[in-house]
Amino acid sequence: MGLLMNLIPLPAFSDNYIWLLHHNGRALVVDPGDAQPVLDALNQAGWVLDHILVTHHHADHVGGVAALMAATSAKVYGPAHEKLPIPVTPLSQGHSLSWQGMHFDVLDVPGHTAGHIAFVGKAPDMAPVLFCGDTLFSGGCGRLFEGTPAQMLASLDRLSALPTDTLVCCAHEYTLSNLKFAVEVDPDNQDLRAYVSHCQDLRARGLPTLPSHLGLELQINPFLRSRLPAVRATLQDRTPTPFDDASYFAAMRQWKNDYR
Ligand code: ZN
Ligand code: FE
Repeated sequence: MGLLMNLIPLPAFSDNYIWLLHHNGRALVVDPGDAQPVLDALNQAGWVLDHILVTHHHADHVGGVAALMAATSAKVYGPAHEKLPIPVTPLSQGHSLSWQGMHFDVLDVPGHTAGHIAFVGKAPDMAPVLFCGDTLFSGGCGRLFEGTPAQMLASLDRLSALPTDTLVCCAHEYTLSNLKFAVEVDPDNQDLRAYVSHCQDLRARGLPTLPSHLGLELQINPFLRSRLPAVRATLQDRTPTPFDDASYFAAMRQWKNDYR
């Protein structure tokens, strides 16, 4: 069954998703940058908000937490090593929490921000669910605002080690623009070409491209493929003196930053 059937991306701002899980009339949300879409969903369905999970300190992920705290009695969990505008139960690698028969493990995934965390939700008879904030996007990864390329590569390696059926719940609808870049880096990847068509079709119908799943990302996301020969061959030409994994990764991240 089913908890997965109860996983909803609530659109917010221009391209954010606030992920909502609901079960037995109870709800949990991740990264509510805006309270209103969450309050609307709760009111419409009559769900009670139990938990708010926060992955990192950026306003488009925490901006709605205070209003949700005022309107509900939800508990708030967030990164131990970031400065947040609201009090949270501090979490880092190795911590866990439970909700409605689900167990959530916390992973440290620094890179986009210094204290960024991710949540992996598990329950019997369902695929794991990854809430990765702005660390991993479908076909891409977050910008390095506070971390080094080596940190981000290690964080993506940590996520890559999750089961391949893990549902990847990213916090932004960046997929099509990421894939445009991915095709430049990995032009002979036929899985990638097929996924581009699939996502173009979804967006043309106004549907989210998310959640993705890890097995797919390992096949199509250049930021999870920076050690593979095909991707290396492209990066070789753009990396003056590549000497280790992180320098190739850094060259790709820089190229993406400048790519239009
Ligand atoms: Zn962010
Ligand atoms: Fe964001």
